[in-house]
Formats: sequence, structure tokens, C-alpha cells
Amino acid sequence: MKRKVKSWIYEPEYESMPREKLEELKLERLKRIVKYCYERVPLYREKFKEAKLTPDDIKTLEDLSRIPFTTKDDLRKNWPYGMLATGMESLATIHCSSGTTGMPTSALYTKNDIFNAWAKVMARVYAMMGLKKGDIMQIAYGYGLFTGGLGFHYGALEIGVIALPISAGETERQLRLAKELKTTAIACTPTYALYLGEYAKEMGIDATKDLKWKCGSFGAEPWSEEVRAKIEELLDLEAFDVYGLSEIIGPGVAHECDQHNGDHFFEDHFLTEVIDSETGEPVSEGEKGELVYTTLTREAMPLLRFRSGDVVPWWTFEECECGRTLMRAGRVIGRSDDMLKVRGVKFWPSTVEHALLSVKGASQHFRIVIERPKTLDVMTVEVEPVKELYDEVKGDLSKLEDLKKEIGEKIRSVVGISAVVKLVPVGTITRFMGKAKRVEDRRKVVPF
Ligand SMILES: [Zn+2]
Repeated sequence: MKRKVKSWIYEPEYESMPREKLEELKLERLKRIVKYCYERVPLYREKFKEAKLTPDDIKTLEDLSRIPFTTKDDLRKNWPYGMLATGMESLATIHCSSGTTGMPTSALYTKNDIFNAWAKVMARVYAMMGLKKGDIMQIAYGYGLFTGGLGFHYGALEIGVIALPISAGETERQLRLAKELKTTAIACTPTYALYLGEYAKEMGIDATKDLKWKCGSFGAEPWSEEVRAKIEELLDLEAFDVYGLSEIIGPGVAHECDQHNGDHFFEDHFLTEVIDSETGEPVSEGEKGELVYTTLTREAMPLLRFRSGDVVPWWTFEECECGRTLMRAGRVIGRSDDMLKVRGVKFWPSTVEHALLSVKGASQHFRIVIERPKTLDVMTVEVEPVKELYDEVKGDLSKLEDLKKEIGEKIRSVVGISAVVKLVPVGTITRFMGKAKRVEDRRKVVPF
């Protein structure tokens, strides 16, 4: 990675607000939104009644912990308009998630939600990557009910960056247009970024000479430092993490600045707490925990203490070198729903990826298969060797026994359980255009 971008601050009055003032603003907005939810959303009126609370009981930021959590299940039960806090005439856009369990949840927006919240936080995202008027953002996130594409689109309009709404897929066209239109940045899932890099090589496109990408914003799935290094090398750009969830707004809940020391959370819009997933109690600064959000400015679908299930390894209020005072947290390790439990050990697929990529010769293309032939779980990790190595042994995988052994040892030490490692020919593992699906759980009873 040769290019180095310089962040700037789009809304310094909020992003660099002295912490004390920011806490005051959060409290003022919290009191307002609590009252708003109580008056307009039946679910909240019920929750408050059960907890023997009224909006007047929320006098300090500490009082927030008295409010019951909102869960994904609450949203599913209120599909499609149960959480709507305005009349239908104020609604501007409807997004919805398919939901891994099959039950959809809605994400509802007024015009203000889009232009005064979403577009603004996404404009901050662009500034964090140093992008300005004249830059061209290739938006390779899906446009549609998924919030990725449109989130980046609104941010581009707000800040004046030129949007190329190419959406996901059509890889050859992506690369051809990148080259011919000279797009200067790209946004997509990290999985797709890796695929673009490999595809470019096959097409004979040299990322350094032929592409003008200075930076890229990657997210919508957990990814590791190893993947960042690979993307930066393949695409010759500076890779940033973008984080968000459709229930809160979509992309733009948090993003990295050029210091790459955690994601900045836009607390003036989304009050963020970090809790212990099991006890529900707040964890201390610096500790690992689950992110919980209270939307402070949303109109159509405000949420109080929404449990995201997303776990961060650490968090801090310490001011960043970039001048932002907003809370920072390490990249999301995984969503608690995606956590695997094999032979009693809990881990995320991203941990396996982390282990694999620290072994020279192993590629990022892998798949985890979990079975229970008798009483014991068996985890098989199918992995492709890197192409150079594969070509070197002329496709004869039996010559790569040492690599196989090394991968097995690494998984055992990093993940904490042993796995059957199976090397597979290059090109065997499915390449994904959006979020990767890396796990096949064939156990009949999943022990959760
Ligand atoms: Zn920063």
C-alpha cells in the first residue's frame, strides 16, 4: 500500500465536541427521545409500565440502564409497522432485512432520518477517508432493500463526492469501469474486495497502474487485520472499516479514521453502550462487550437500548489523534447469533480466518463444515492454498502435507480446538459478491 490518505472532519462541532459537552447533548437528546417513544410506540409504553417507569424518571445518563432492552425479537413481533413512531404520511423509505431466522424486520425512515441523520453520518465516513468533491466513489454494495448501497449513495450526495451506483456483482464490469471512469474509492464487503483483487489479476489489470483507488470502505461482515493487509496489497489502496446495522440506520453507525485505531461511533446520533452479553450489565472502558444502541435523532423508528448482538474486543472514550472525541471501539469480532459452539468451545468463523491467514501459503478461501457423526462434533476446515503455491506443485495437493499440518496446529492454538484440515484445489470454494457464508452446520441438534 503506497497511498496514504488524510482524514478531515465533516462536522467538527459534533465529532470533536469536548466530552463534557457531548455528554450534555446526549442527555438532552435522550430525555427527548424517551418521551417521544413513550408517547408514540405501544411497545415502549408497555415496557415502561412493566418496569414501573415514566419518562420523567430518566434524569441522568446513568438512568438509561433502568430502561429495558429492545431485542430483535421485539422488532420481529412488530413487523411491519408496529415500531413506527410517526404517521404513514411522514414515512419516506422502507428497508427490511430478511433475517437469518426467516422472520423479517423493518427499517423505517422519514425524510429527516435520511437527510439529517443518515446522509450526515455517511458524509462523515467519506471525510474520514479523506474524500472530497471531485472524488468518485464506486458503490459496489447492493442497492435495494439491503441498506449498504443507498447509505453510501446518500453520503456521497451530502458531501459532494461523485457516486457511481454500480451495486454488487458483475465483476468484470466493475473493474473495467473503475479503470475507464478513474473512480478514486470503492465500497463493498471485504470478501468482495478480495475477489475483485484476484479477478483484476486474471484480467491483467495492475491495481497500481490501472486503478486510481486511494481508499476503500469495507464492512457488513467481520474481517481481520490479515484480510486488511491482503486487500491493501491486492488493490493498492488504504482499507477502512465501516460498521452499521439496518435497525439503527444502515452503514454509518461507526467508521475508522486514518489512524486506524478503532472505529469512531457517532454518539450524537446513536448513544452507544457496551454490556456483558450474559448479565446485561455495562462493562468498564477497555473491556470486551456487546454494543447496545439508543437512537437519539431518529423519527420513524426510534429504538431504546437495542441489543445488536455485535461484540467488540475493547472500547474507549480517549480522544483520538485525528481530533475526534467520539467513542472508539475495536472492530466487531462477530455477531452473537453467528457464534459457533463446537465441542463446548465458542468462537466466530472470523477466528478461523485469522488463524488461516497467519499461515504462509494458506488463502482466505475457506469453508467450515461441522458434523456430529456419533456423539462428538467434528469440525472440518476446507481451505485453498494460495495460487502461486498451487501452481508450483502443479495442483498436486499431496505435496502440501506440511502446509496442512501447519494449518491444523495454528487452528488448534488460535481457536482452541482441533480440526480436520482438507486442502482443496484453487477455485473450489464459492466466491461471494456480498457477505460470505462460510459455515455449514450439519449437526441435527445445535447445542445452544
Ligand atoms: Zn480518529
